[in-house]
Amino acid sequence: MSEIRLNKASYIHNLTQICTKAGGKEKVIVVLKDNAYGHGARLIAGEAKKFGIEICAVKSEFEANEISDIFENILILSHIPTGNESSKFIYAINDIEALLKIKDGSKINLAIDTGMHRNGLDISELDYAFEILTRRNLELLGAYTHFRASDELNADYFVQRENFRATKEKILALCDEFGIKKPIFHSHNSAALERASEIDDDMVRVGIAQYGYAQFGDSLGLKPVLSLWAKRVSKRILKSGQGVGYGAKFSAKEDINVATYDLGYGDGLLRYNGCGELRLANNEPILGKISMDSFSCKDSGEWVCVFEDANIWAKFFDTISYDILVKLSPNITRKFI
Ligand SMILES: *Cc1c(COP(=O)(O)O)cnc(C)c1O
Repeated sequence: MSEIRLNKASYIHNLTQICTKAGGKEKVIVVLKDNAYGHGARLIAGEAKKFGIEICAVKSEFEANEISDIFENILILSHIPTGNESSKFIYAINDIEALLKIKDGSKINLAIDTGMHRNGLDISELDYAFEILTRRNLELLGAYTHFRASDELNADYFVQRENFRATKEKILALCDEFGIKKPIFHSHNSAALERASEIDDDMVRVGIAQYGYAQFGDSLGLKPVLSLWAKRVSKRILKSGQGVGYGAKFSAKEDINVATYDLGYGDGLLRYNGCGELRLANNEPILGKISMDSFSCKDSGEWVCVFEDANIWAKFFDTISYDILVKLSPNITRKFI
């Protein structure tokens, strides 16, 4: 069985770097959505909690339930209200309709649209939002925004930051007016944390940096946590002139020892069509096309490391590390080493 190995020392190192930059463990929300970016939500949640992180964020109630015995404070980012919300979780409010539909008394965070226009309330809707949330006894624990381009060095980040500063003032004034406790403010994701010279919020919300991927150089000295390992299914001698796999996309120029390993696009690898040169961590090229459940390469022993840096695959497929990591099937065995 193929295997995902998680380097515990690297994970702890990354959390330490992130918390130092953010100003303390109590300032960091770890983002564990989508099976902790493919790393394994329960394993990562357990380590983050042990490290001293108190709040995490996930996509849905389904994901929140999966780790509800580990974290007491779970923010659900993409919840669609049912009127049947749990008192265990904290729900993001992504528009006014959500505020009207969510169960009375629920714990909430207001998402604020400061320029990304994906989710959240406009600053002009806040008076009405406070009217609703006090009438419905919703418990306002936080307010946050998300940057549309914190990973690009343009002015967007500064414009949104300024919009969020104005929003905070407005929210604090409304809290006074309605006699509500001041919520926790957060806006910075990984790239924003990296580039920030100071954080003027209560907390940050960090996803990819935890897993060891920086958006700007190496300022935090992050280390990739995940390595992907495949196990040999079979081996043979590929004779000169014989081709391996679908369409015989690779054919041998001399007799070589080839082996087939138990990972394919059905396990979440992107489908390689045998063109170009996609190399494994040991620098051996994958030979021919990737199948649904396997790939072939020069026999590299019982185990071969597919990658320990998802950026190599991301570059080859013209995508981002997130995309390579998050697709890794939950069925792959995962363990800390
Ligand atoms: C995914 C997500 C994050 C984490 O982003 P990273 O770039 O991985 O740090 C933070 N906030 C929201 C709202 C998100 O959806």
